[in-house]
Amino acid sequence: MNENNTLYIVVPCYKEQEVLPETSRRLKEKVLALRAQGKISDKSRIMFVNDGSSDNTWPIISRLHEQEPDIFSGVNLSRNRGHQNALLAGLLTAVNYADMIISMDADLQDDINAVDAMVDHYHEGYEVVYGVRSKRDTDTFFKRFTAEGFYKVMKALGVDIVFNHADYRLMSRRAVEGLAQFGEVNLFLRGIVPQIGYKWTTVTYERAERFAGESKYPLKKMLAFAADGITSFSVKPIRMVFSLGVIVFLVSLVMLVYALIAKLTGHTSAGWTSLMGSIWLIGGIQLLSLGVVGEYVGKIYKETKHRPRFIIESVLNK
Ligand code: UDP
Ligand code: MG
Repeated sequence: MNENNTLYIVVPCYKEQEVLPETSRRLKEKVLALRAQGKISDKSRIMFVNDGSSDNTWPIISRLHEQEPDIFSGVNLSRNRGHQNALLAGLLTAVNYADMIISMDADLQDDINAVDAMVDHYHEGYEVVYGVRSKRDTDTFFKRFTAEGFYKVMKALGVDIVFNHADYRLMSRRAVEGLAQFGEVNLFLRGIVPQIGYKWTTVTYERAERFAGESKYPLKKMLAFAADGITSFSVKPIRMVFSLGVIVFLVSLVMLVYALIAKLTGHTSAGWTSLMGSIWLIGGIQLLSLGVVGEYVGKIYKETKHRPRFIIESVLNK
């Protein structure tokens, strides 16, 4: 078994006062059991990140830490920054103490019992273990349809993401250090983590219903998140504009010929040929130019992310 076995479980919390007592109780049980089995060290912790909640979330976290500092720790953000940022804050704080980090939601939708398998995979040498939902019975038809559709669209746009995986995952310290090199501000972690690489595997679990309280991801936020995911990872939409430009331009040539023939055979009224010709030609040229400008914008956008160009897994050199 790997000697480096300090586990941190990072849990972002936004107005989660209703679920925290139960979540902390169950997570504590899990951590104690894993410690007893010798799979994780006694330095392992559950790290709650308070994402600027206005309710009792932070007082609850502070109390947990005061009562049992050898089990609970806390990170308090200066204000609400959203789930992805809160998660990143937790990961980058925990990486200073942990050998492996598991991230999960506070509402017990992520099955805590999958933690065992994740830790086992870590000991087998995997550096990233994705939690994958086996079924979505507890989701409404609408949520399931939109969510699964989203994963498919992402795939079609060439974004490397794991199907039905959200943010329940284990990462080794090395993997989180890799993540730290990604400088982007528009965070879409489930798209970034596969970019880090390293040996990975999945663990399936059944997604439960939220234990208490209500979702902090209303439809509006969900759509914004999805749009963020696409525009942060794919320049294909820009390419589509370019392709459209090419098509319209080609059509315009055909239309020009058609308009000329129509004129020569005398089936037109005055001014029609020149109008038809210019509309199509100008339209095609405009779309084409937009696509070209888009290509450069796409390049700028990739550059400004300052993503690491590579991450070395190992070097052989004697
Ligand atoms: N969350 C957060 N900041 C936010 C919104 C949500 O830290 O601004 C946390 C929330 O406390 C929970 C996780 O992100 O632990 C997932 O949120 P939620 O369960 O509401 O989303 P859903 O499961 O409905 O998609
Ligand atoms: Mg939830």
